[in-house]
Amino acid sequence: MLDLNSRILIFGGGGTIGSSTALHLARKGYRNIRVLDVYPIPSAQSAGNDLNKIMGISLRNPVDRQLSLEAEDAWSNDPTFTAYYHRSGRLDCCGSPDGIEDLENTIAKLKDAGLGHTVEWLDTEAQIIRRVPQLAGSDIQGWKGIFFEQGGWLAAAKAIDSVGRELVRHGVQFSFGDSGTFQSLILSNDGKTCLGATTKDGTQYIADRVVLASGAWTPSLVDLEDQCCSKAWVYAHMQLTSEEIKEYADCPVVYNEDLGFFFEPDEHGIIKVCDEFPGFTRYKMHQPFGTPEPKSVSVPRSHARHPTDTYPDASEITINKAIAALLPKFKDKELFNRAMCWCADTADANLLICEHPRWKNLFVATGDSGHSFKLLPIIGKHVVELLEGTLQEDLRESWRWRPGSGDARKSRRAAPAEDLADLPGWKHDPATDTKTQANLTVQ
Ligand code: FAD
Repeated sequence: MLDLNSRILIFGGGGTIGSSTALHLARKGYRNIRVLDVYPIPSAQSAGNDLNKIMGISLRNPVDRQLSLEAEDAWSNDPTFTAYYHRSGRLDCCGSPDGIEDLENTIAKLKDAGLGHTVEWLDTEAQIIRRVPQLAGSDIQGWKGIFFEQGGWLAAAKAIDSVGRELVRHGVQFSFGDSGTFQSLILSNDGKTCLGATTKDGTQYIADRVVLASGAWTPSLVDLEDQCCSKAWVYAHMQLTSEEIKEYADCPVVYNEDLGFFFEPDEHGIIKVCDEFPGFTRYKMHQPFGTPEPKSVSVPRSHARHPTDTYPDASEITINKAIAALLPKFKDKELFNRAMCWCADTADANLLICEHPRWKNLFVATGDSGHSFKLLPIIGKHVVELLEGTLQEDLRESWRWRPGSGDARKSRRAAPAEDLADLPGWKHDPATDTKTQANLTVQ
């Protein structure tokens, strides 16, 4: 039985789902919470440690809809989060036949859900430009669009930082660095119950519950029986001049499922651009805790630990294609902060939040599938319900342990992810970068 004095460890507590879990435990009065992470909150390698993320209502299934409506309410009303929600609105737009069909399906689903009044169908180029004048110079002939009044973007890293400050006020304990880095579980003599965990520096933490919310790293830490596949997505930044900042201030998030998306400039005039593609894996032989021998696992390689990593040459082409279509006047601007950021896909794109069937009292909270930052204010509430045994039945069903139920490498994306081993251009380690080596030789 869990009570307010129970000792609870949250690995990945400097990231999105982990920090939210700690927040909701603390708000309920739990007194023995320890947040552990490789980096201090907001963790430098969290997928949520970013300038911005899209906030929107997901209609994919009833569970996603419920969660995103709860999240919209929390971003709008919870004082820990309101300052980080920018209600710029969002334009989903497309010119390809498949893309237009998807937009039509979205409108139909919104109407079915009683949300038709929150959006506007944009049937012509002129209607799109009326809503987003910044697209005036773009070649959008034949494009259709949906304008979402609700929604916009979230100042992601700042929001996790706000959670961190609230955790400090609640007296939550923290372990970062080697003493916060998960290494292995401490098991009972019969090997069936998790009694705590050991970290990289050898510290042993005894606990009543262990939550592993370590995002894309989770499949390389414990055996998830191939239910999650870690994949990287990419972004790049560009700097606007003061005149350009004025022009793009309050621009809605513009999203095109064939090309990518961009956000209005932040307070320093930086625009983030992402392309749309099925993600990159990084398969290697690796032995997660609980597997008898090494197996093939996609293992993240974080920008925080490898700051010279950028992204594959192929991404430079697709990001520039998105810029040429969506931001043509900036097509010659220099890009910087090219980076990969890691998520954990499941086969059905639903979360994986459940007790591990092999080890009682170990709970995994992962499987974000690239669309879960928006859940930051509320996802932890449901993780706490799981720990307390009160999780709603449909959420429990959607997030259950489900090996063999599909291919996480493909997930619900247009194609399987390509592997970074086959893609040049992203790795610039001094020892492997031929250009740098050449320079060294010359000197
Ligand atoms: P993370 O936030 O990554 O947290 C995992 C944590 O585990 C990290 O802090 C890490 O340091 C820690 N960790 C790793 N290894 C260990 C270890 N050994 N011991 C202890 N701790 C460890 N979502 C949206 O809702 N809207 C968007 O617009 C959106 N855009 C995105 C764009 C890009 C380019 C990417 C990559 C993702 C995007 N997402 C978006 C997805 C969103 O960022 C993720 O779904 C979400 O942040 C994942 O949360 P998480 O808690 O599972 O993982």
